[in-house]
Amino acid sequence: MKNKQIILAERPTGMPDEHTFKFVEEDILSLTDGQVLIQTHYVSVDPYMRGRMIDAESYVEPFKVGEVIEGGSIGEVIESKSSVFEKGDMVIGGFGWQQYYVAGEKEVRKIDPKLAPASTYLGILGMTGLTAYFGLLEIGKPKAGETIVVSGAAGAVGSVVGQIAKIQGARVVGIAGSEEKIKFLKEELDFDEVINYKTTDDISAELRKTCPDGVDVYFDNVGGAISDAVLNQLNRLARVPVCGAISSYNLTEIDYGPRVQSILIKKSALMQGFTVGNYANRFQEGASQLGQWLQEGKLTYQETIKTGFDTIPEAFLDLFRGNNIGKLLVKVNQ
Ligand code: NAP
Repeated sequence: MKNKQIILAERPTGMPDEHTFKFVEEDILSLTDGQVLIQTHYVSVDPYMRGRMIDAESYVEPFKVGEVIEGGSIGEVIESKSSVFEKGDMVIGGFGWQQYYVAGEKEVRKIDPKLAPASTYLGILGMTGLTAYFGLLEIGKPKAGETIVVSGAAGAVGSVVGQIAKIQGARVVGIAGSEEKIKFLKEELDFDEVINYKTTDDISAELRKTCPDGVDVYFDNVGGAISDAVLNQLNRLARVPVCGAISSYNLTEIDYGPRVQSILIKKSALMQGFTVGNYANRFQEGASQLGQWLQEGKLTYQETIKTGFDTIPEAFLDLFRGNNIGKLLVKVNQ
């Protein structure tokens, strides 16, 4: 049995391409005491992985050239020399883009696929759901009747942000990049207003129309020109959780924009960057609340699932092409 893996072949400049990744195979090592052999079922592809492909200091280590792309994955224990895990257990870990992984007991944790489908532990009940939950509630602090704008609104984080804001009684305006997404946000998620930034000539004018009372919370997933337009329409004491800046991840030059200080001063507004890891000691609390809302039917989730191990690099690039609604995942076996 061979383990197929995807390694970082070279650091990309601009959009990653066929030179960025390489498929390789290695023998699977035999287990020593305390280890388990995992067969990967689902692989998560996430925008932050683009940041790890360059050699720069960040909140996570850069990927090393020649090594497997790490990231959230779900798998099944198919052999165990551990007293903690049995054959058949489903587990989550950071073993990334490979078909098999020999893990130590502390590297993975069990998930319960009877409680919720395995894939949801990488999405709504996992990293992206928790990002939406803590970023919105701890920094955005939406109140009933306030206007919340979310960019990247139909994605894994954005679609959950909008729904949580609605649960809090806020008015939600979503910005996304296709008519299919606009329809999804309006019809499936009941967003109050939506803006297709790819077809409108004037995002500012659309914002004035859809946010007649201004913007109280802007949940920023994308940065760039969309965020410049929203920041100009902040209300006094507005809050801006800065979650992501995907519009700049593949740029080859520094993304200069309007200066924001005078807006923040005039509006006494708060703009705060965050990473979900800041709330690691509260993940259990976040996951149980998200799970409860799911059970009560107050929250719903969407996944875009590609199939086949070989589709992983293209699935990753789809994030930057906007080819996903909700959480983008790859189901490794057809
Ligand atoms: P996602 O929204 O499911 O997928 C990415 C989406 O970004 C695409 O579908 C696309 O939607 C949009 N996009 C791509 N290029 C764009 C551009 N140039 N301008 C505007 N929108 C663009 O991804 P996600 O996992 O939920 O992540 C969303 C953001 O949150 C990312 O910036 C990510 O880095 C960040 N994030 C941060 C944390 C944290 O801890 N701070 C954790 C998770 C994610 P359209 O069709 O609408 O363009």
